[in-house]
Amino acid sequence: MGAGPAGCAAALRIASRRPDLAPRTLVIDRRWFPRDKLCAGGLSRLAEAQLARVEAAPAVAACGVAAMEFALGPRRELVRPASGWAFRTVRRREFDVALLDLVRDRAVAVEEGESARVIEAGRTGVSVVTERGEHRALTVIGADGASGVVRRAIELGAAERGFALEALVPVEPQRDAAFAQGVATFDFAPMAAGLGGYCWIFPSRDAESPLLNCGIAVCAPDCARFGKRARSFLVEWLASRGVRCDASAIRGHGTIAYDPEAPLGADRVCVAGDAAGIDPYLSEGIPCALGTGIAAADAVVAAIDRSDFDLTRHHERVRRSTIGRIMERRRLLAHARYRRDPIDRYFHAVRLFGSATG
Ligand SMILES: Cc1cc2nc3c(=O)[nH]c(=O)nc-3n(C[C@H](O)[C@H](O)[C@H](O)COP(=O)(O)OP(=O)(O)OC[C@H]3O[C@@H](n4cnc5c(N)ncnc54)[C@H](O)[C@@H]3O)c2cc1C
Repeated sequence: MGAGPAGCAAALRIASRRPDLAPRTLVIDRRWFPRDKLCAGGLSRLAEAQLARVEAAPAVAACGVAAMEFALGPRRELVRPASGWAFRTVRRREFDVALLDLVRDRAVAVEEGESARVIEAGRTGVSVVTERGEHRALTVIGADGASGVVRRAIELGAAERGFALEALVPVEPQRDAAFAQGVATFDFAPMAAGLGGYCWIFPSRDAESPLLNCGIAVCAPDCARFGKRARSFLVEWLASRGVRCDASAIRGHGTIAYDPEAPLGADRVCVAGDAAGIDPYLSEGIPCALGTGIAAADAVVAAIDRSDFDLTRHHERVRRSTIGRIMERRRLLAHARYRRDPIDRYFHAVRLFGSATG
C-alpha cells in the first residue's frame, strides 16, 4: 500500500529475494504518477546505500551538493567530503516515478489512482477494500505515509509527531554564491527559539530552472503544535540569509518519529516508511523509508515461508536492522538536543552517553 520509496523498496526486495513472488505482489497507490511530493529530495549516501541493497539506481537528473554548512548560533562549520558529492538533491516527482518503473520492470503489478479505504485482517488473509473493489492478500505492507489508513486500521496507537515546512525559491545561480558553489545549509537556529529542529537551504531545480529548496524541520514532539510559529520563524530566518520568501508559498507535512519500542505490525500486516516513523533528528526520511521497506519485505517473505503471519513483533526486526540502529541513535540525539525541558534534555543526554559507551 503506497508507491513511495518505502512501498517501492519493499516490492523490489520481494522481487529480488523471491522472483516467484513478484507476479503475486501488487503495489497500489491512490495517486497517479508522476505525482508531486513535498520533500527537499536530499538523497544522502545512506539513501544511496539502501537503494543499492535493492539494486535500484533510478536514472533522474540531480543537483550535486559539494559541501554542507552546519550552523549553531555564531558557529559555522563547512563539511566537504574527501571525494564526490556530500549528497544529491532530486525532484521527488521524477525520482518516485523512476523507482516505480523499476518495480514494474521486475514483474510486480502496479495499480495507480486506487485508494484503499478499509483494511481487515482475517484468519486466511487480508481484505483491502478500495473504491474499485476488493483485493484479497496473504499480507499487507502499509507504506502509505504518516497519516495512512493501514497504521490506523491495525491500531498501532499514538506516536510522537513532528512536521516539516518547505518553500521553493527561484534563484539566479550567478548571484547566489552558495548555490553556485553547491553548498547546502543546515542551521539549528530554531532551537534557540524553542523549536526543536533545524532550517535548511538546498540547491535544487525545477523541471527547467534552478531553485533553492528551503525549509524547517520541527522534530521535537513537544513542539508539534507550533506550526504557525515555525512558519514565521522560517520567513525571518530566510530573510536573515538574504532569501526572500512569502509565507503563503510555504507548505507543510506531518512526520512520525521512529520509536524502537513501538509496535510496527499486527496479524498479517506491518508498516514501513513514514507510516512506521522516521529519524527524528534530521527527518531524513528517504533512507528510513527504503530501509524499513526492505525490512517489511523480509518479514513478509519469512511469514510466507513459515506460513506464520503473526507480524506483531515486526518492530524487533526493524530495531536489529542497520537503519533501525541509525534511527535509534538519531532519536537519542534528538531527545538530548531538542527537548524543551532542560532536565528531560539532561537525562536523554546521559542515555545517549550510555548507549555510545555501552
Ligand atoms: C518538507 C519535507 C522535506 C523533506 N526532505 C527530505 C530530504 O531532503 N531527504 C530525505 O531523506 N527525506 C526528506 N523528507 C522525508 C521524506 O519525504 C519521507 O520520509 C519519504 O517520502 C517517506 O516515503 P514513504 O514511501 O514512506 O511515503 P510517501 O513518499 O509519502 O509515499 C506514500 C504513498 O502512499 C500513498 N497513499 C497514501 N494513502 C493511500 C491510500 N489510502 N491508498 C493507496 N495509497 C495511499 C500516497 O499517495 C503516497 O504516494 C522530507 C519530508 C518533508 C515533509
